[in-house]
Amino acid sequence: VRWLTISGNERFFAVTKRIHNNLHGSPGDGGGLGEAERAIYEEALAASAGALAELVRPGDIVYLHDPQTAALTRMTRDAGVSVIWRCHVGIDKPNDLARRAWAFLTPYIEEANAFVFSRREFVWDGLDQGKLWIVPPSIDAFSPKNQDLDPVAVGSILATIGLAADDRPAPVFRRQDGSLARVDRRAKLTQDGPLPGDAPVIAQVSRWDRLKDPAGVLRCFSEHLRHPSAHLVVAGPSVAEVADDPEGAEVLAEVERLRASLPDEVRARTHLASLPMDDVEENAAMVNAIQRHADVVLQKSLAEGFGLTVAEAMWKARPVVAGRVGGIQDQIIDGVSGVLVDDPADLASVAGAIDGLLDDPDRARAIGQAARQRVLDEFLGSRHLVQYMNLIQVMLQKEGKA
Ligand code: UDP
Repeated sequence: VRWLTISGNERFFAVTKRIHNNLHGSPGDGGGLGEAERAIYEEALAASAGALAELVRPGDIVYLHDPQTAALTRMTRDAGVSVIWRCHVGIDKPNDLARRAWAFLTPYIEEANAFVFSRREFVWDGLDQGKLWIVPPSIDAFSPKNQDLDPVAVGSILATIGLAADDRPAPVFRRQDGSLARVDRRAKLTQDGPLPGDAPVIAQVSRWDRLKDPAGVLRCFSEHLRHPSAHLVVAGPSVAEVADDPEGAEVLAEVERLRASLPDEVRARTHLASLPMDDVEENAAMVNAIQRHADVVLQKSLAEGFGLTVAEAMWKARPVVAGRVGGIQDQIIDGVSGVLVDDPADLASVAGAIDGLLDDPDRARAIGQAARQRVLDEFLGSRHLVQYMNLIQVMLQKEGKA
């Protein structure tokens, strides 16, 4: 089993971010998806296709993830491999923009041996239903992102990155290879001061992306939340290090400007954190600590493929407030294992849901416990692995290879 990451260039990432936004029904940068974009897209993937062809042998199975790799399906057809193409991005009620992105991608993936979508609502019109599989994503319970961390480690990691004041020197986590490691880097923070030890904390962790609505999160907190002592942490990856997201820096700058314009008292209770990505496992431990420290985890996405951050927070027994969009609906049973807000753009309702949980710690705790159980039952790698095994077996049987 091998894992490969494609490379790209600025023009490719501008096109693929547009495809991503369009698949979510959103215009993104407003550009088109025509022949010029096809040329940029195919040219950038040609090098990856060549590298891939050298590594595979006839009979191998190639599992391609998401729209950025779609053209590799066609480009590897002569290598004698079976291709599974998987898409976790989608929209519940497709509009013209989503259909335009489907039309752009369909010629590349039609020849795949199987398609995997995260949820049935995301499946594109016209695809061969006989090759279709619905497999939601999962999380790895033992990864640095999700492994248990005791409160001392959580406090110490938050202090090391600069979000909290804590002098216990134990920012320790376990790497994927089993070795112990420390969080050493600081986050880039926009805050007046660290989180007070006793303040209720609301946290959203996600890429700096308009569909995650970090500006809406700030406005929701500053204009609608009743809880006078609550603090808000909005955290995301360091924008310089997410090369395939050309909008990240712009979105972070917008959120920073909005924060600077808030009245002093409420601004002092908001914290923006850009987490370094130099060491992805260290970054994961930072996300882990922020999610664990939160009294309520928010995922105010306006559209969402699956929302891994939701499963990650649920696994940590956090009560999550999120919009009733995309794959979030498959994870949270409203009122039982989290709270869904019908319209995530309705700031008053989102704030009301958060206040409701902060007001009632017993309910918040029960929802958190049910959330952990839901992830244990449905969203761990064990379920995913069995589904993949089944998929591969059926696919190979159909092709007479097993
Ligand atoms: N994430 C991370 N570091 C960060 C911010 C986010 O590792 O600084 C992770 C987050 O924990 C989650 C993933 O990025 O695992 C985002 O996945 P999700 O499905 O929530 O949204 P996407 O970014 O795919 O739209």
